[in-house]
Amino acid sequence: MLFSDVTSKFMEMEETTKRLELTDILASLFKESDDDLKNITYLIQGKLAPDYENIEFGVSDKIIIKALSSVSAMPEEEINKIFYKTGDLGTTAYEISSGIQQKPLFTEELTVKYVYDNLTNLAKSSGHESIRTKINIYLNLLMNSSPDDIKYITRIITGKLRLGVADSTILDSLVSAFSDKQYSDAIENAYNFHPDIGYIALLLKNNDIERINNTGAEPLIPFKVMLAERLRSINEINEKMNHNSAYEYKYDGLRTQLHKKGNVIKIFSRGLEETTLNFPDIQKNFKDNYKFDSIIIDGESVPYNPDTGELYPFQMVSQRRGRKYELNQVSKEIPIVMFIFDILYLNGKSLVNLPYPERRKILEKNFKDNDYFKLATRIVSDDGDKINKFFEESIESGCEGVVAKNTSNESVYRAGARGWLWIKFKRDYEKELADSMDLVVIGAFNGHGRRTGAYGALLMASYNDQDDTFESFTKLGTGFTDEVLFSLPKMFSDKIVREKPARVNSKMVPDMWIYPEIVMEINGAEITVSPVHKCAYDLIEKNSGLALRFPRLIKIRNDKKPEDATTTNEIIELFKMQKKTK
Ligand code: AMP
Repeated sequence: MLFSDVTSKFMEMEETTKRLELTDILASLFKESDDDLKNITYLIQGKLAPDYENIEFGVSDKIIIKALSSVSAMPEEEINKIFYKTGDLGTTAYEISSGIQQKPLFTEELTVKYVYDNLTNLAKSSGHESIRTKINIYLNLLMNSSPDDIKYITRIITGKLRLGVADSTILDSLVSAFSDKQYSDAIENAYNFHPDIGYIALLLKNNDIERINNTGAEPLIPFKVMLAERLRSINEINEKMNHNSAYEYKYDGLRTQLHKKGNVIKIFSRGLEETTLNFPDIQKNFKDNYKFDSIIIDGESVPYNPDTGELYPFQMVSQRRGRKYELNQVSKEIPIVMFIFDILYLNGKSLVNLPYPERRKILEKNFKDNDYFKLATRIVSDDGDKINKFFEESIESGCEGVVAKNTSNESVYRAGARGWLWIKFKRDYEKELADSMDLVVIGAFNGHGRRTGAYGALLMASYNDQDDTFESFTKLGTGFTDEVLFSLPKMFSDKIVREKPARVNSKMVPDMWIYPEIVMEINGAEITVSPVHKCAYDLIEKNSGLALRFPRLIKIRNDKKPEDATTTNEIIELFKMQKKTK
C-alpha cells in the first residue's frame, strides 16, 4: 500500500470530529490495508508498537527545524517563524517541502512499509552519531514524500499526530471492517488482556474468533488492571453483592503487576509502563525466593517500616522529587512491600476465569508473607459489625479503607473494567463529597500578579466513555504548591494547541487549549448543576451540565491516561450519592 493512501485518510479524518464518521474512515482504511494492517494500526496512533514496548523517536522540534533548514537552505530563524505562525511542525514541513524547487525524482516509492521501516530505524538509532542518522532518515523520507505525506510523518515523529481517535474507536473500526458486533465484548476483553491493537487487528482479519475468546493474561504482556466501583455504605455493598463478599484492606500505594516467564521478571504500572527498574528489591527478592516457571500477580506496592509494619503514602515520603527518580530513591530510602491481592497466571495456565475465592486459595498455597511480599489482609463476612471493625483496623494500619470482592462463581478477573465485582469503600464516602476524582486538563487561563508566568486556573474535564469525549467540569485554581504551579508551563509546552481539540466538549473558552493528555486528582466540596459546563449536559437538567465547586488539586496522576479519568457516568453517580446523603 502507498503511504499516500494513508495520508488521504488522515486528511479525511481531520475534517470530522464525529465518532461514527471516524470509525467509517478507519474501517475503509483497514479493509484496503492488506499486509500493512498491523503497521497501520500503530501509525494511526502515531506509534510503531504498543506503548509497553517503550519505542520512542527521540526527536525534538529543534532537530526537525535543523533538518528543514539544511534541506531548504533557509535559515533556522525563518523556519522558526513559520513554525510560530502555523503552530504546527507538520504544516511547517509541508510548507518547506512545497517550496523546494528542485526535488529530485522520487528514488523510492513511498510505501507504508518503507515509511514504517525507516521510522523504526530512526527510533532505534542511538549513540553519539544518532542525531545525524535520525536527520538523514528524516530527510530521505522528506525527499521521497509529497508535502502532505511529510506533514503527517513529521507529526508522527514529533509525537503530535493527534487524530483524535482513542483505542476504543480503533477497535470499533476493526470490528466494522472484519468482524461482527456480536463479538465486540469478547474483542474488548481480549484487548484488555493483550493491549496491542496490531495483535488484535491480525486476529480479526484472520477471523480467529477462537483465539479472541481465549485471550487471557500472558506473562510479560501487561494487562489493563481490574477496577472497583464505589458505594456509600457497607450495607449497600452487602446488598449489591448478594452477601457473597470478602473484604480486603485498600492499600494506598502504586498498583503493581509482576510477571515472570523463565528467568525474566518484569514489573508494570497501572498505566502499562514497565517499572521494573524502580523496584530493584522486589524483583531481586522474587527471583531469590519463588521458583515459579511463569506467573502473573496483581497488587499494590507501598513504602513501609518493616520493624513497626507502619505504611507510608508515596507522596509523603518524597513529595518534591520527579516521578521516576522518586521511585528509585524511595525504594532505597524506605523498603517497599507488595501487597498481593490477585493472581492471573501460574505455570503455563491463565487463571482469569476462575472465581476469586479459588484464585485467592492458589495465592495462599503459593505465598508465605515475607518483608517484600504479603497477601492482602482480608475477612470473608457479610456481618456489618465485623466489617465495620475490619474497616477501622484498615484505617489504623494506614490504609484508605476496604475493597469488597465478590465471592460468587461469576467472580472472574475482569481486565480493564469497573464492574460490581469489586467495590471500594472509604471513610469520606459517608460524609460530604464522596471521593476524589481524576480529571483531564483541557485548557489553561493566564496567571496574574503572583502567578504571572504560570496559570491562574486550569479547565478540567471528565471523560465521556460513551462518546469518547472530554467534557468540561470545573475550573481548578487551588491546591498547587508554587513548585508544581511553576512547573506547569513546561509540562504543557508541547500540549498547547491553537484550536479546541477534536474530542473536547466545552462552552467555556480558556486562554489556551491543552491537548487532553494530563490527568490530575482533584477533591471538591460539592457537585452542582451548572449551565456553564458540559459534563452530563442535558442529562440531569435541560440546558445544564454538572460542575464541581471548590476544586482543589491533590496530585498529578502521571500513571493515568486521559481515558482512565473519572467518567461522566461516575460523576452522575457521585452527584446522586451526594443528593441522597443530604
Ligand atoms: P481507586 O484508585 O480509588 O479507584 O481505587 C482502586 C485502587 O485501589 C486499585 O486500582 C488499587 O490500586 C488499589 N487497591 C488497594 N488495595 C486493593 C485491594 N485489596 N484490592 C483491589 N485494589 C486495591
